[in-house]
Amino acid sequence: MAYRLPTLDVPEVRPEELIPEKYRRKALNIASIPELKAVRKFTNLSHKNYSVDTTMVPLGSCTMKYNPRINEEIANIESFRCAHPLTPEEFIQGTLRVAYELKELLKKLGGFAEVSLQPAAGSQGELLGLLLILAYHRDKGNNHKTVVLIPDSAHGTNPASAAICGFHVKTVKSDKNGELDWDDFMKKLGDDVACLMITNPNTLGIFERKIKEMAYELHKRDALLYMDGANFNAIVGMAKPGDWGVDVMHFNLHKTFSTPHGGGGPGSGPVGVSEKLKPYLPVPQVEFDGKRYYLNHDIPKTVGRLLAFHGHFGVWIRALAYILTYGSEIKKVAEYAVLNARYLRHLLWGTLADPYAHVPCMHEFVLSCSPLLKKGTNAYGVAKRLLDYGFYAPTVYFPLVVREALMIEPTETENPETLRRFAEAIKTIVKEASEDSSVLNGAPHTIPVKRIKEAEANRKPIFKLKD
Ligand SMILES: *Cc1c(COP(=O)(O)O)cnc(C)c1O
Repeated sequence: MAYRLPTLDVPEVRPEELIPEKYRRKALNIASIPELKAVRKFTNLSHKNYSVDTTMVPLGSCTMKYNPRINEEIANIESFRCAHPLTPEEFIQGTLRVAYELKELLKKLGGFAEVSLQPAAGSQGELLGLLLILAYHRDKGNNHKTVVLIPDSAHGTNPASAAICGFHVKTVKSDKNGELDWDDFMKKLGDDVACLMITNPNTLGIFERKIKEMAYELHKRDALLYMDGANFNAIVGMAKPGDWGVDVMHFNLHKTFSTPHGGGGPGSGPVGVSEKLKPYLPVPQVEFDGKRYYLNHDIPKTVGRLLAFHGHFGVWIRALAYILTYGSEIKKVAEYAVLNARYLRHLLWGTLADPYAHVPCMHEFVLSCSPLLKKGTNAYGVAKRLLDYGFYAPTVYFPLVVREALMIEPTETENPETLRRFAEAIKTIVKEASEDSSVLNGAPHTIPVKRIKEAEANRKPIFKLKD
């Protein structure tokens, strides 16, 4: 047998005492195979996939950085890993302390009055942030404030979250520098606006320089400023959104603070708020009274709770380990993330179209493959061909404001040599496109799964690989 079950360490119960006859399985049909065969099977399978442990994953907006192994060691400490969410507080003081210290560090890094760790992902953080804004306006009798302004470069989850909360979404244009178009913003900033939902740096990798002026104009009308913090990696330790006047922001711990994600891996989207939104935070909040850590359920104006339990502790502990490892040096993360993006963009200068070439990028940049259209191929071809060169593909066709977009985010954990190899691969592919675009259109050629129907693969996934 390839796996042995551990010996039972709880009193044995007979299934017939617990499960009615009709629900009980008749026979357990598990194949019995030798351990070596199982090890080879799964080791070989793991090599057929791409991950940050095997190659650079330059997926723009996703911040696919290396996850230091010390995070895994700490997340695997048994008393953390095995803590049950219903354990009485006095037995899990250490676990609560982890949550509390992470919360305090996020407050400091973001410049916020309070943080809720509860949301299970960035998108759920958006939902919470907008629910808080809704609660604020209801509480103040601002029932006419039903509009959320969202730039046209925003991530699709932004308008989706606003719509789920019952807001009307109005799109604000980007200007020629890739920033929010000021005139269009002012034109749409009526008394019906509940908030502006902006990403900074935005999904073009461009810093929104007028962020403080936006906060000023919004606050003057008792509207609020939501910042999507998915790109916090570009500014962590360098700037605090709370200081800019941001009222609410979600962090993506799995992006900025290194937990491996994608492919359905766990996320965590804590939400930081200014004083204005503190009264509406979800319950429970983890608190410390000077002696003990406890879960505070007593928040009279709370919006309620988002999860059955407390949140994704495994992601929290990795984030805490990551932040503490850097300590006061954490701004190096942002510095190197931006430096790497700028270096890679420099290496690719003139290779494809760069629609915002006149504007410096932050931690990522967006190129356009539209020059390849007349050669009979596109961004999809470039992305798929990159797999043959041993790289995971960048994000494609997003943000929507750039045609044939390739959105590239190297993160700070790649070294210059890898960036040079990646740039060479892109240059080779662009040359191939000129010579024979069918090489791109038929790619990938070297990996077992070729072009999949993405919508179908999402809805009806088939997990069996052909032998
Ligand atoms: C990733 C991302 C989100 C959504 O976060 P999830 O954790 O994937 O739900 C929202 N906005 C931007 C800009 C993102 O990159």
